[in-house]
Amino acid sequence: MNFSFFSTPRIVCQSGGLVQLGALAQDLSVTRALVISDPGIAACGFAAEAVAALTASGIAAEIFDQVQADPPIVVVEAAVEAARAFGADGVIGLGGGSSLDTAKVVAAAAANGQPVAEMIGIDRVTGKRLPLIQVPTTAGTGSEVTWVSVLTSESYEKKALYAPQLLPDIALLDAKLTLGMPRSITAATALDAMVHAIEAATSRTRKNPISDGLADKALVLLGQNLPIVMDSPTDLAAREAMLLGATLAGMAFINASVGAIHALSYPLGTGFHVPHGHANALVAGPVLRFNMPVAEAEYARLSRLLLPGRGFRSGSTAALGLIEEMERMLKASGLKTRLSEVGVTESAISAMAQEVVTGISRLLATNPRDMTADDVARLYREVL
Ligand SMILES: [Zn+2]
Repeated sequence: MNFSFFSTPRIVCQSGGLVQLGALAQDLSVTRALVISDPGIAACGFAAEAVAALTASGIAAEIFDQVQADPPIVVVEAAVEAARAFGADGVIGLGGGSSLDTAKVVAAAAANGQPVAEMIGIDRVTGKRLPLIQVPTTAGTGSEVTWVSVLTSESYEKKALYAPQLLPDIALLDAKLTLGMPRSITAATALDAMVHAIEAATSRTRKNPISDGLADKALVLLGQNLPIVMDSPTDLAAREAMLLGATLAGMAFINASVGAIHALSYPLGTGFHVPHGHANALVAGPVLRFNMPVAEAEYARLSRLLLPGRGFRSGSTAALGLIEEMERMLKASGLKTRLSEVGVTESAISAMAQEVVTGISRLLATNPRDMTADDVARLYREVL
């Protein structure tokens, strides 16, 4: 049982904790901070609140609020330029996964001068990065505790950067920032985080006892609180449980890896602009059913954790219970449930399947069951 486990060294979980941002930045010796966010979060006033918290601690701060979903490299480069022009010696990511992923790359590029395109791949980042605090406003990607950043090229390809330098210094979990999340984003990001937990728990090669424990706890927090926040979006305790669950799931999957659900979801994002969490939720059912012959026992164990009141008799019933619960949550969210409803056509499927087995094979390698291009195409058709 040889493994290494890495995570963000400091996680601060406090409702209303955004006011602490200045003190946290001081702990990292930051004197000039660039807050990286998107127009929606800026319009909510959160970026201004972050700046107020920083300046109250004597830290000069400026906002870059032009992050877009599936961040284009050119926008990330603009944020790097803003950090340089401002003379930032610290970076704050404030927003969903796109803002946090952008902040990671900016913290590295502003310190080492490396062009963003040269950082794409595994361990291509050179030198150190600026101090980095991540403040998620969705309960989803877990980007605040991972060392991966996913950007989008000019030709709409997803480009992933993996490097130890991208692991943030501090994750600040303030559930108040998630209270206003729209229903569709709440559901999509939560289902993404649940998939992180399930895929980490069943990863073929890299799971370990720490990631297993985190995945279990994450799944319970997310699965039991999602129905609550769907009915009562302003339930702060439930929102905090979701936020923490997403972080724990992030800690699990970045160490254990995700699997085929994430692999199959990539072409939906790049080709059809389906948001990441929704894309995962669309293909989760078929992939989990495909994995049943080898993962049934583990799915049954997770199902009994998530749905303790069901009293499942057999392992296969319990395992199917987990899959049906994921499908039920997708349906209940009001998000589209078929690929054809998000623009996918039969004629696109074979190219999508090829993209999965050639371009994203690293995520098939950690999936519990081997998958061919024919398998991938068949699974897409099941939900077309
Ligand atoms: Zn994900």
